[in-house]
Amino acid sequence: MEKHAVAARTQCQYGNVYNDDECDRKLPGWLAAFRPPERKRGNMLGTGFRIGRIFGIPIHLHGSWFLLFALITFSWVSYFTSEHPHWGVEQHWAAGILSSLLFFGSVLFHELAHSVVAQRYKIPVVSITLFVFGGVARIGREARTAGQEFNIAVAGPVSSYFLAGCFFLVATAFAEGGIFAAVASWLAVINFALATFNLIPGFPLDGGRILRAIVWRLTGDYTRATKMASVGGQLIAYLMILAGIYSALTDEFLGRFGGIWWAFIGWFLLSAAQESFAQVAIRNSLRGVRAGDIMSAELPTVPRNITVADYVDEIVRTGRRCHLVQGDGQLVGLISVHAVSGIPREEWTTTSVQAAMIPRAHVHVTSPEEPVLKLLERMQGEDINQMPVVTGDRVVGLISRDSILRVIQTRMEMGRMEGQ
Ligand SMILES: [Zn+2]
Repeated sequence: MEKHAVAARTQCQYGNVYNDDECDRKLPGWLAAFRPPERKRGNMLGTGFRIGRIFGIPIHLHGSWFLLFALITFSWVSYFTSEHPHWGVEQHWAAGILSSLLFFGSVLFHELAHSVVAQRYKIPVVSITLFVFGGVARIGREARTAGQEFNIAVAGPVSSYFLAGCFFLVATAFAEGGIFAAVASWLAVINFALATFNLIPGFPLDGGRILRAIVWRLTGDYTRATKMASVGGQLIAYLMILAGIYSALTDEFLGRFGGIWWAFIGWFLLSAAQESFAQVAIRNSLRGVRAGDIMSAELPTVPRNITVADYVDEIVRTGRRCHLVQGDGQLVGLISVHAVSGIPREEWTTTSVQAAMIPRAHVHVTSPEEPVLKLLERMQGEDINQMPVVTGDRVVGLISRDSILRVIQTRMEMGRMEGQ
């Protein structure tokens, strides 16, 4: 199963952080990101298929990418057809497809630049996905310092300016009017635009992260820095939406199609900017909370020798999703709905809980003292939904991602009420 990266992900819409998960009906959309993956459906970016690995990072293509590829290729072909009417049809198409491929190569290069710098700081890069609005590099956790944040963010635009320079040199090396010169000079322009657009100082663009890093360094206040970058991002998003709608209605400025496209990108940026705001709220709501404060002291237990079918009856009867497994009075493992869902139904009556459980040696545990924010990151990173809380050899409680989410939600609701 795909690992789900924590709170923040570096994401390039042409660069940065946002949450790519489907809105949950009960929880606010941004909380849905923290839902256990077993209950998540239609994950917007998780479903792309893998095309390979670079520097150990899996590269995914999302289904929506093909739409963009087709659109961009068609617009290149019509552009080359009108600009270079003396070329043959095959040449128009060859130039169009080559431009599209190089464009996506450029986006990938930009994401890789972020990723390589993140890896230098020992921040795991979960994946890079190319989708309809560009690319996204998911990183496993936030940067620990403003300096790291700055360097990871700035690497993207720097890499795109570098590519713009390279394509410019290639364009000048080839004869004017030829396919290579035409393609290379356009890619120089596009990479230049990509870098510059990403430097706009608002989340989720790289410029927003750069702004956050600078404010974070100057004030030492991470929360304030994030809010500032988030507000910047929302302003830019609203401007793009307005400009897009205006153009779509009047056919001026960006034209009808360009206007619709801009409005969509603006809408996408807006939700991403709001996301980063929410993430700060999560951090704040969990400040000072430790595992022992919110764990459940009830310890639902099942014996190891019952069958999975009997265990499913127990789940259905009690509604509990996770149980400790006991044998000879000792904790021998952990079993949950998640573990059962991997076993074919016809094997339920012949498989024992012991065979289906996660054995004790592989069970991740926490202590009552562990800060919940850190625990939540760990559960996300390891893709774990429940953890026993242990002191010494003794299990003193159970904690689930769901229960942490409920705490966040309740605390934030209470916070809003107090703020009124
Ligand atoms: Zn970027």
